[in-house]
This record gives sequence, structure tokens and C-alpha cells, in this order.
Amino acid sequence: MKTIGLIGGMSWESTIPYYRIINDYIKDHLGGLHSARIVLYSVEFAEIEECQSSGNWDKSAEILAGAAKKLENAGADFILICTNTMHKVYKQIAEKVNVPIVHIVEATADALSRNNIRKVALLGTRYTMTENFYKEKLIERGFSVLIPEGNDIETVNSVIFNELCVGIIKETSRQAFIRIIDDLKKQGAEAVILGCTEIGLLVREEDSSLPIYDTTVIHATRAGEMAIE
Ligand code: GLU
Repeated sequence: MKTIGLIGGMSWESTIPYYRIINDYIKDHLGGLHSARIVLYSVEFAEIEECQSSGNWDKSAEILAGAAKKLENAGADFILICTNTMHKVYKQIAEKVNVPIVHIVEATADALSRNNIRKVALLGTRYTMTENFYKEKLIERGFSVLIPEGNDIETVNSVIFNELCVGIIKETSRQAFIRIIDDLKKQGAEAVILGCTEIGLLVREEDSSLPIYDTTVIHATRAGEMAIE
């Protein structure tokens, strides 16, 4: 079995499901007492968020590349960056290590393609929704991408940072997300990408009028597959 390296803590609330999903995958496929070989480097998220909001992405890349190097030295055969937003600096991290880094958008695009989805809604931080680094990867793979309009971008972003990343789950926020997903469905979206690793803590499959592609589940499951393939 391969050793999985996780760069977690962004936020730590969403690193917990990664750990559980990967171990569940190994248990389901190998049975008995089998469990995943995992090395976790959990960052200090306040430091990363400060880099994001001040636009100092190079510094955040340096911190995460340092974490990746430590995981490689600790024996990780491949690495996951357990956040969508920080894939903005994926290249700067990947070029510092000699082991593969599993790209969250590639894994998600594979899952969408398997189900012939072409037009997809994207929810995530404002960086993920409004900047190009994430959407362009989906567009390259042939998808059209819809994001929320106007104030809804701020609503989604603020729920992520002010509630989900600090462990607060509010019914009013769930209802807001459900309404935003409904609006994107009316615009023709066939599915919604939960393109932030915390959104799955709030929105469940049964809440959503669109099929959900939860990047945490997809990314962590891919790690389980790679560990034992
Ligand atoms: N975990 C979130 C994501 O998937 C947001 C936290 C961050 O900014 O890294 O984008």
C-alpha cells in the first residue's frame, strides 16, 4: 500500500472528513483491520488566510511547498493539497517535490466526465469562483461553468470563512446555499461542484436540487484508489 501525504488544516474542519473518507475507502476495499498509511502536515490556517487576503500568494506557495517537501521526506508516495483555493499555487508547490500531487480539479473533472455532465455550477471561495485558475482547468476539459451572481458570491465566501472554517453550521446558511443552487439550476447547470472542502459539512445531497460533486469526497476517494491500485 502506498503512503498518502496530506497537506491539511485549510481548514482543519475539512481535513477530518479527508481522514475518514480515505480510511473508509481502504476498509471497504481491503476489509478486516486494514487502514490507510497517511502522513499529515496540518498548517496554521490563519497564516495561510492572511497570505490570501493580502494577495501574498508567493508566500503561501512557499509555506505549502515546505509542507509538501516534509511529506515527501516522511515517505509520502503522493500528496493531496486538501483545499480547492490553494490549487491557485499548485504549480509552485508541485515543482518543489519529486512525487505527484493529485490535482483536485482534475479528479473532479474525471468524475463529471464519467457522468456526461457538460454544464456545471461552481461554489467555492471568491478566489475559486471569480479567478481563472480553477475555472480554466474545467473549461480546458470541455465544461461550461456557472457561478453565483452579485451578492451571492459574497454570501458563499463569507459562510465559508466566517462559519464553516470555524465549525459553525447554520440552517439559514444552508437555506441560502439551497436557493443559490436552485438559481444556478434555472440557468441550466446540470450539477454543482462543491468547490470548497468545507461546503459538504453544510450542504447534503438531499438538500440540493442538483447532483452534488463534493470535491472533498472526490479527492479523498481518488487518494484511496491510488493507495491500493
Ligand atoms: N477549504 C476551502 C477550499 O477548499 C477554503 C479554505 C482556503 O481558502 O483554503 O477552498
